[in-house]
Amino acid sequence: MDVEEFRVRGKEMVDYICQYMSNLGNYRVTPDIEPGYLKKLLPKEAPEEPEEWDNIMEDMDKKIMPGITHWQHPRFHAYFPSGNSYPSILADMMSDAIGCIGFSWAASPACTELETIVMDWLGKAIGLPDDFITSKEESKGGGVIQTSASECVLVTMLAARNQAIQYLKRDHPSTVDSEFLPQLICYCSKEAHSCVEKAAKILLVQIKILDTDENGSLRGETLRDVMEKDKANGLFPFFVSAILGSTSSCSFDNLEEIGPVCREQACTWLHVDAAYAGNAFICPELKYYLKGVEYIDSFNTNPNKWLLTSFDCSCLWVKNRYRLTSALVVDPLYLQHANSDEAIDYRHWGIPLSRRFRSLKLWFVIRKYGLSGLQKYIRNHINLAKHFESLVRKDKRFEVVNDVQLGLVCFRLVAPDIVNQSLLATINASGKLHMIPSMVKEKYIIRFCVTAENATQEDIEHAWRVITEHTSELLSRKSIRNQVFFRPPLTRQKSKRLSFTRSVSKEMYQRSKSRSNLADGATPILVVDSDEEHELNQDAILDVLTSNVNMDDDVFNKDCDDSFRIQPTSPTEIACNGI
Ligand SMILES: *Cc1c(COP(=O)(O)O)cnc(C)c1O
Repeated sequence: MDVEEFRVRGKEMVDYICQYMSNLGNYRVTPDIEPGYLKKLLPKEAPEEPEEWDNIMEDMDKKIMPGITHWQHPRFHAYFPSGNSYPSILADMMSDAIGCIGFSWAASPACTELETIVMDWLGKAIGLPDDFITSKEESKGGGVIQTSASECVLVTMLAARNQAIQYLKRDHPSTVDSEFLPQLICYCSKEAHSCVEKAAKILLVQIKILDTDENGSLRGETLRDVMEKDKANGLFPFFVSAILGSTSSCSFDNLEEIGPVCREQACTWLHVDAAYAGNAFICPELKYYLKGVEYIDSFNTNPNKWLLTSFDCSCLWVKNRYRLTSALVVDPLYLQHANSDEAIDYRHWGIPLSRRFRSLKLWFVIRKYGLSGLQKYIRNHINLAKHFESLVRKDKRFEVVNDVQLGLVCFRLVAPDIVNQSLLATINASGKLHMIPSMVKEKYIIRFCVTAENATQEDIEHAWRVITEHTSELLSRKSIRNQVFFRPPLTRQKSKRLSFTRSVSKEMYQRSKSRSNLADGATPILVVDSDEEHELNQDAILDVLTSNVNMDDDVFNKDCDDSFRIQPTSPTEIACNGI
């Protein structure tokens, strides 16, 4: 493709994008396809000869688009927002065109310097202490853009591990580093993201996942008790990852209590994972969430979640950058340059050597919206979540399960988990709305997150109408279990659609004794999928349904709630009274 063709195709692509964005609302949110659909549509081998652009675009339209889950759809309420905006898309286009690899200052000075400046802008806007801001006098800290929050947690845990080993080495200088590993232990709460556990696994250190209080908050006393016991057993607490805005219910650990407990220890790094919620702290009225921030060593938030910036843009700030880089620095001569003492070389701040020009999109976004525009966006989402909460609270069939503070509402039918599961499965299968489940206080809940940039009250009310219509339909069935799961029998096609995020075969289910790997929190809708279309084994379905980890084992034999009583009659007939 030469520049003249690019000029034409580029403009066409922008038109295509505009068309896509304006018509998004008319599509299903989730695709209506079967796993493996694309294999049937594309050739097995890469093309030997160049192809026409028009043919590629036609396949884009006819083959790829039908398999897309539309994250920017006004009816998409799953996960957290996937940050996106026109300034961000355009800036990424520019970054791709420049195509520089910014591993050192010399490799592309603007790439490094802009990152430092934009991270200072955002760090100040969020309200991080001066120690974290590179440009503040005496500051040893600074910010860096990583690919993901998981990576932020991994590199801070790595820095903490290095710091702890250096500390322990003072008394045992001849011991090799790896010999200290068995002593090292880190902590997070049950509400923490699984990436903390993953980091501990990668770094070969022990982790304890602690209980929270009834609001999903990790408290200082809990942490102190466990740490004291562990120290008495010869362990060394080296790292704590606190959470501000948990993924399942947007709960907040008590930083003001956890902070001093970490500071009482010999050498414990305190990290804050605020991947979603941290973005909201740019609003002055939300800064109180940062109470206790003076105790922390590092902080991460993802503008690619809730600050209109496209993936990837995960921001990490550290109080002492030398403690981070000393865990990561390997400095072969060929990468050194004349200014390496004064300049920041971001290759020492993370795992990859090569880095994209990611600060460009954040810079475009912050400038085009201004902090006031970004605050307005955040506040709109919070107001809409509160509005959704009020709609749920007015309907006695439902309960709200989390303390709605930002853009996430967790709710459920006052009914056994299985009924909530089937409600969510039918809503998702309709393609009219997309939400995902989670577990809060041992119960299966449905998460509703406000995600679209320009979401309105009408969007929220529409979503609530879809939910209540499906609810009434579901609850009007005399025998929920009969009709939803058994009559008519699930065909292969239907089972896939209900469980479009994951289906398990009979054999796979029978092989798998571990329930947890069938219900991973994001896709716990289990529907047995049989190769013999017509003889789906109902006993196998019953097995899956009644032994699902998300369900009370004895759910069918227990009175659940006065307004929703399920009584066992025969294995295939369960009556629902009182709705
Ligand atoms: C989304 C999320 C993560 C994971 O983010 P990635 O950038 O996908 O690694 C980690 N922690 C919290 C609190 C999150 O909400």
